[in-house]
Amino acid sequence: EVSSQPLLSVRGLSKAFGGVLAVQGVDFDLAAGEMLALIGPNGAGKSTTFNLINGQLRADAGSVRLQGQELCGLAPRHIWRLGVGRTFQIAETFGSLTVAENVQMALLSRDRRLWSPWRRATHYQRAEALALLQRVGLADQAERPCAALAYGDVKRVELAMAVAHNPCLLLMDEPTAGTAPGERHALMALTRGLAREAGMGVLFTEHSMDVVFGYADRVLVLARGQTVADGAPESVRADARVQALYLGR
Ligand code: ADP
Ligand code: MG
Repeated sequence: EVSSQPLLSVRGLSKAFGGVLAVQGVDFDLAAGEMLALIGPNGAGKSTTFNLINGQLRADAGSVRLQGQELCGLAPRHIWRLGVGRTFQIAETFGSLTVAENVQMALLSRDRRLWSPWRRATHYQRAEALALLQRVGLADQAERPCAALAYGDVKRVELAMAVAHNPCLLLMDEPTAGTAPGERHALMALTRGLAREAGMGVLFTEHSMDVVFGYADRVLVLARGQTVADGAPESVRADARVQALYLGR
């Protein structure tokens, strides 16, 4: 179920790089369990918005509240602790470690345990790691090194790692980049299932309109750092400004 209470509230978010106004006064809300797609042409400010939310960039103005708590000004590690997870456009896993060990590393990090080559992750919270792998459909790959996996499966490992600390908000930068269409839909269906089950809000950027209109509960369109449209997929698709942006009309 999508909740009516906002999980995330973004107001007046702004960031300039020299003379480039990358994000200019962006406002939006995201509910628990909701899938919100952030779309727009290259340079629209999507990645900057992500980096402002997770603390990798400091906003010039505006506010980002997670369950009422202001995130602007906090360090990325602190924001992650408060429940903001993320995945990357190019999946980042440790190729020489097994699939299970990768997830165990994420659990070590959640529990503030340090990893060292002398104390391998092999035995740490193994049952929990395997349960997470089961959840993303990788139970049978647990003992393989990540480097041996198909790319779509690496994306699943990354998803399991990202949800290992039970984030209430997950930021996904082009989650389906580099995957085949079948795998793309499986990944998004899986993500939506996790979002609905855990009441986790998902903010994702995506180029494939198939994915956007198939899985987003709401679509936010940015262009030149400003909001062009924000609403249900059907109404955004019908919006004249959005059509002009995408179809040159
Ligand atoms: P998108 O992810 O939608 O393609 P970005 O958020 O990456 O857009 O970029 C928005 C604008 O900000 C672009 O004009 C880009 O060139 C500029 N920009 C982004 N990051 C930086 C940076 N670190 N330094 C200078 N300009 C940047
Ligand atoms: Mg980008």
